[in-house]
Amino acid sequence: MSSTLSPSPVWHPYAHLKSQRPAPKVVGGEGPRFILEGGETLLDATCSWWCMIHGYAHPRLVAAIREQAGELCHVMLGGLSHEPADRLARALVRVTPEGLNHVFFSDSGSVGMEVAMKMAVQYHQLRGKPGKHRLLSLMKAYHGDTAGCMAVCDPEEGMHSLFAGYLPQHHFAPAPTAPFDAEPEAVAADLAALREVLERHHHAIAALLMEPLLQAAGGLNMTSPHYLQGARRLCDEFDVLLVFDEVATGFGRTGRMFAANHAEVTPDIMVLSKGLTGGYLGHAATLANDRVHDAFIGDSPEHAFLHGPTFMGNPLACRVALESLAVFEEEDYLSRIAALNRVLQKELLADEALRAHPAVSDVRVLGATAVIEAHAAGELAGVGDWARERGVWLRPIGRWLYTMPAYITAEDDMRRITEVMKGWFLMR
Ligand SMILES: *Cc1c(COP(=O)(O)O)cnc(C)c1O
Repeated sequence: MSSTLSPSPVWHPYAHLKSQRPAPKVVGGEGPRFILEGGETLLDATCSWWCMIHGYAHPRLVAAIREQAGELCHVMLGGLSHEPADRLARALVRVTPEGLNHVFFSDSGSVGMEVAMKMAVQYHQLRGKPGKHRLLSLMKAYHGDTAGCMAVCDPEEGMHSLFAGYLPQHHFAPAPTAPFDAEPEAVAADLAALREVLERHHHAIAALLMEPLLQAAGGLNMTSPHYLQGARRLCDEFDVLLVFDEVATGFGRTGRMFAANHAEVTPDIMVLSKGLTGGYLGHAATLANDRVHDAFIGDSPEHAFLHGPTFMGNPLACRVALESLAVFEEEDYLSRIAALNRVLQKELLADEALRAHPAVSDVRVLGATAVIEAHAAGELAGVGDWARERGVWLRPIGRWLYTMPAYITAEDDMRRITEVMKGWFLMR
């Protein structure tokens, strides 16, 4: 049956229904490329919203899912446990910064953040500080699309301003401006701005939330590890929990296993998703330190953490996450990421013509992430089609043309991606 007979009832994300064209159908993939109906293959510069870190059809990940499917596809985690959940929780405690000893599973990055926020509010409630029930977030933040998450996304430039009347009101500090390699003094102004909000509102603030080092969907804004260290000190001073949303940055994206590793900072709560399963199944983990966890040990009914997504700890997801982590470590992905980073530095950051182009306002690179920021979104109109004609799948966000490739991307393919990104500005 041909798909051209009638329009598909699939409602696509972030799509303008009036102007959208039929989405090409993906029938498979291998390595960093996916294959469209009709045989066209596209080199994926985004690894499918940053999660397919091993690329498509990785034999070990596929085999792990098959094997687990033969044993146990699903069972509730309420009152029951199973080996993949237990092993994954232990593995995550091992690889994350020292002190994050407790793991709460859920099914997506947004829900993982909802869990983190509820945990923070209930933590203060249980310690007799019920007034600390607001959150402090940063401008340019993106933490997900559920209501709780929308309320902590950038309220102006983020895509949720339409829902302002529907959402709870939280506090925001300016987005950090010091670059990744800034000297400690250069983050002083950013930290002073954070301190100002905390001084005024700490009595009402349960937690400071941030995407450490890389504010991703809000414009690929990169900042310094010194900012994370300063934020940690401020949170301790004002009795505010520090929550790192490492949904995008986790599992190597910034060049270290976690962004927190660059700063040697342990947050009180850390959220992982996207790369957690290598993108093969939706899942998330919210990790907490002893201080947060132990506040929930008590006699009253309120001491139970009242959350429990149906699919939390799904055995298939846990099993493939374990395999993803094993491949990551055994095949030394951090050195692959370093190799991709060198290509991105050389081909984009060091390209004077690109940086000087009148449509380009900035070029930034961190780990296996690179962005060409244009002055206006209009400068990027048509870039997706243009790239597709050249065999590359690019999907800019607003005025940001970026790549977050799969870590198995060969250096030649990485250069193909940077060529197309640059070519849009320099070769038309
Ligand atoms: C993608 C993302 C989320 C939301 O994850 P979903 O799985 O799409 O719900 C949250 N935080 C960050 C930093 C993200 O990049």
